[in-house]
Amino acid sequence: MIGAQLVRENPARPAERVGAVPVTPVDQVDATVRAAHRDFLDRAAVTMARRLVELADAADRLDLRRAELAALLARETGKPVTDCHGEIAFAATYLRWVCANAQRVLTPTLLDDELGRLSCAQAPYGVIVAITPWNAPIILAVLKLGPALAAGNTVVLKPSPLAPLTVTEVAAMLPGVRVVHGGAELVTALVSHPLVGKVTFTGGGQAGRSIAATAGGALTPVVLELGGNDPAVFLDDFALTADDYERLVLASFATAGQVCMAAKRLYVPAGRLDEFVESYRAAAQRILLVGDPMIDEVTMGPVVTRAAATRMSELLADARHRGGSVLRLADAPTGDGYFVEPALVLGLPDDANLVCQEQFGPLVPVLGYSTEDDALARANDSELGLGASVWSADEDRAFAFAARIEAGFTFVNTHNRTGMSLRAPFGGTKRSGSGREYAEEGLREYAQPTVIHAPAAFRAGGPGLSARAYPTN
Ligand code: NAD
Repeated sequence: MIGAQLVRENPARPAERVGAVPVTPVDQVDATVRAAHRDFLDRAAVTMARRLVELADAADRLDLRRAELAALLARETGKPVTDCHGEIAFAATYLRWVCANAQRVLTPTLLDDELGRLSCAQAPYGVIVAITPWNAPIILAVLKLGPALAAGNTVVLKPSPLAPLTVTEVAAMLPGVRVVHGGAELVTALVSHPLVGKVTFTGGGQAGRSIAATAGGALTPVVLELGGNDPAVFLDDFALTADDYERLVLASFATAGQVCMAAKRLYVPAGRLDEFVESYRAAAQRILLVGDPMIDEVTMGPVVTRAAATRMSELLADARHRGGSVLRLADAPTGDGYFVEPALVLGLPDDANLVCQEQFGPLVPVLGYSTEDDALARANDSELGLGASVWSADEDRAFAFAARIEAGFTFVNTHNRTGMSLRAPFGGTKRSGSGREYAEEGLREYAQPTVIHAPAAFRAGGPGLSARAYPTN
């Protein structure tokens, strides 16, 4: 940050300044939340149908500006521009899904029968504070903004300082959203503000703990979408085609491995390790091109910061120290960009840092296992439980194994975004968070059931009920 500006550099060419946004002073938080709350009250007159038209308009504008926004996103994050096109298009697709489903999911219900009159509305919380990470900054913001706005809330969005530019453009397309920029101090002031109805956070565990503690102190409900250390388990009958191997490689190395649900630990039957590694290496040579994110053919760019690159060097040094052998999968450009050579690491013990920590980078451990129970115990031996995958020629067998994995979302014969579905709720178990995004569950996160009930017993002429009775229906 320079003075009151937050300047973003290009991770592929750090000397290049991509853009800047103004830092929001902490003493402006109160005025910002109050303004968002006034908007919330004013927008009570806006019908859900009208709100959904606004979301649909934003989806159209995302489509119209896709190329320009994708280029900006690639330059501020280091993600390949082709992936950035995909992310912007996916955000528009998700907004249209919200438009198609919000009325059905959020419409109030009314029962008026022999038991009484019972209405249940899906009421907004008021002001939602949304704190988002850098690695998929558009879709991860839109997963919060779409449902929150559909339900009638307003939002104060605090994006990551590592990717503040594109998301600020996107948020400006949506009525009812204010964007603030800054770090932890700003977040604490937002989360503890008494007029905030709910907090929603996507990011790492450390920030998550701090946000949950502050929200807890204010008794403000909070959604936490945190990190993962996803295992991918290959059952002994796994039968991957060349295409499957390519998809598997990108399941770990897309966004240079900096994806919450990347395949981060690969468990392979010991007897099939050599065959697996050879096919994997061949697929990586076909599919992994590390380079300038602005080149269409590039599939892996740099990591996001110098600190992230340094952490990868440290993890690699530790892995070597722990007896791991490193299999480099592709060359990376030299120069001052934050490029890291993608690699598999073989022969590590389970307590090596690269195995038991979320690496969030392009280094992936391959671990041999003896029996299915051995694989299951080691896959589950993590405080995190976000995603996982099971690979088998037999779908029933894969589902039976998957049911024993501790994860919010287990993919079968794929992993990462190719296994997602708009109709499937996504979120973590264990210390990977609470709350869900996507699907009906994601829409319901930003609406609270509020009930009005007149029991028939107390209507004029009704049978009445003893003052000490419990209900029976
Ligand atoms: P991060 O936790 O460093 O930052 C996320 C947001 O929190 C940013 O806006 C940041 O400014 C803010 N922040 C950082 N430290 C804070 C603190 N101490 N107090 C308050 N706010 C703070 O995460 P990141 O590097 O942007 O993203 C990477 C992490 O996010 C990984 O762990 C990844 O797995 C996780 N992630 C999870 C999901 C999911 O859906 N579960 C999706 C994407 C990323």
